Amino acid sequence: MAKYIGPVCKLCRREGEKLFLKGERCFSPKCSFDKRDYAPGQHGRNMSRRKKRESDYGRQLRAKQRARRVYGVLERQFSRYFKVALGRRGLTGLNLLQILESRLDNVVFRMGFASSRAEARLMVTHGHFIVNGRRTDIPSMLLKDGDELAVREGSRKKPFFKTLGEVVEKRNAPAWLDRDVKTLAGKVGRLPERSEIDGSLNEQLIVEYYSR
Ligand code: SF4
Repeated sequence: MAKYIGPVCKLCRREGEKLFLKGERCFSPKCSFDKRDYAPGQHGRNMSRRKKRESDYGRQLRAKQRARRVYGVLERQFSRYFKVALGRRGLTGLNLLQILESRLDNVVFRMGFASSRAEARLMVTHGHFIVNGRRTDIPSMLLKDGDELAVREGSRKKPFFKTLGEVVEKRNAPAWLDRDVKTLAGKVGRLPERSEIDGSLNEQLIVEYYSR
């Protein structure tokens, strides 16, 4: 269960835009990107100023890296997801995004139980959730329609979860997920449609990247 352990805000600066990887902090004046919106590294500031014509490969690579960083997935697992998406019927790009969206950590985040995917991942690895009645601590677990998710009975007694309901109520959940704020539980109604997934992700470029 490998994960990226380097500085997170650098990833936003590398992509040249806010990726909202740190929950509430991203909306506060503490956001590093708001203070330094140039690429990291010794020559980052100069490189960002220089007008660069990006090659097709460069655009494909950036689209892939961006998606990887948004979902917090390392290269090996991401290319594995691509192979699974390729083997499924329908549009490979959409299949890939649906796979990423159906990861357990993403579903926890989308349901509003966590402020970011990183926080959701942590909550899952600490064993606070049950899926279809069974405790799980695998954030990369892929959920499918009909799968049920809930905060574990033992975790509900913890101070964090006692107040979580009020926080969750203020967050919206997408239509493809059914959520019950009172019981801190939910269900995957169906897989998301393209319009329900982050519009800034460019799955076409990702498909082109892996089809070189
Ligand atoms: Fe990116 Fe959030 Fe860090 Fe800002 S605070 S640079 S949006 S991860």
